[in-house]
Amino acid sequence: MERVLAALLATAAAAAGAAAPARPPIAWSPIPYPAARRAAMADYSLRHYGRRAFRLEDPKVIVQHLTAGPSFRSAWNTFAADVPDPELGERPGVCAHFVIDRGGTIHQLVPLALRCRHTVGLNWTAIGIEHVGSVPGDVLGNARMRRASLRLTAWLRCREGIALKDVIGHNESLRSPYHRERVARLRTQTHGDFPASAMRVYRRALAAHRCG
Ligand SMILES: [Zn+2]
Repeated sequence: MERVLAALLATAAAAAGAAAPARPPIAWSPIPYPAARRAAMADYSLRHYGRRAFRLEDPKVIVQHLTAGPSFRSAWNTFAADVPDPELGERPGVCAHFVIDRGGTIHQLVPLALRCRHTVGLNWTAIGIEHVGSVPGDVLGNARMRRASLRLTAWLRCREGIALKDVIGHNESLRSPYHRERVARLRTQTHGDFPASAMRVYRRALAAHRCG
C-alpha cells in the first residue's frame, strides 16, 4: 500500500513539475492607446525598424526594467501621457506592457498585441516588464516582487515560446541577436537597468519554472 501511495505521489509530483506555468493574477490598468498613438507607433517602427507596424507579433524577447520612480501610479502616469520622451524627443511616448509594484501586484497597461516603446532596438519584438524600484536588489530582495516577476515572466515565456536566454535586462539589449536599429546615433544606446550580473541570478531562478 505504501509503495502504491509513494508511486502515486511521485507521478503527481512529476505531473505538477511538467505542467506549464499558470497565468498569475494580473490587474488590468490600461493606458490610453487610441488611433493616434497606434499611428505614431507605426511611424516609429518605420523609422527605426524599416516597417510600418504597431502590432507586436510573435515576440521573441522579454525585457526587464526598473522604473527608477516611486510608485506604480507614477509609472502609469508617465506611460499614459504619450508625450515625446525627454531623452530622444520622439512620439509615441514610452511605455511597457506590465508594471509590477512593490507589493507584488502585476499591472498590465498595454495588450500584448500592441508594441510599446521601452527598449531601443527591440520594441518591434519585445514584451516590456517594469518593476517599481531603482536597483535590481529592490526586486530580487523583495520576495513578493521577485515571485510575481518570475511567475509573470515564466507564463509569458512559455506561452510565447521565448528562449530563456532571450529573457534579458534592459542593460543587455545591445547583445540581443534580435537588436535592430536604423538610426545610426542610437545603435549603441542602452540603459543601466537590470545589468547582466543581476540577470544571471534572475535567469537561474526562472529556469526552475519549466514550460512542461
Ligand atoms: Zn529600462
